[in-house]
Amino acid sequence: MDSEQYLKMVCGECASPFYMLEVHHAMCKRTGKYWYCPNGHARHYIETEADRLAAELATTKRTLNTTTVAMDNARAALHVVHRESEANARSAAAYKGQATRLRNKYEPKEEDTDDDG
Ligand SMILES: [Zn+2]
Repeated sequence: MDSEQYLKMVCGECASPFYMLEVHHAMCKRTGKYWYCPNGHARHYIETEADRLAAELATTKRTLNTTTVAMDNARAALHVVHRESEANARSAAAYKGQATRLRNKYEPKEEDTDDDG
């Protein structure tokens, strides 16, 4: 054999072994073109490289869509949590004001320890 690479193949129809140029095999796989075993059986890859890439692209698009939906849901949930957090902060401020008013009303004032009065 010369420097070109060959693949050992087996016909899927008659099981005859044969050798095929690797570059020719790659081209057939990429394009879906036919090759023939020594007994004349036409063979080809059903899924071409273009088909494979199209399927991969479709899967990627589905994944992207799912991820986008998940991100939208997370963003909406974060918005709800943010609003609840703001409401809780307002409630806390209101309770704190109420507690201060009650403390000022019922707790005795601390003695003024300064000597300037
Ligand atoms: Zn064959």
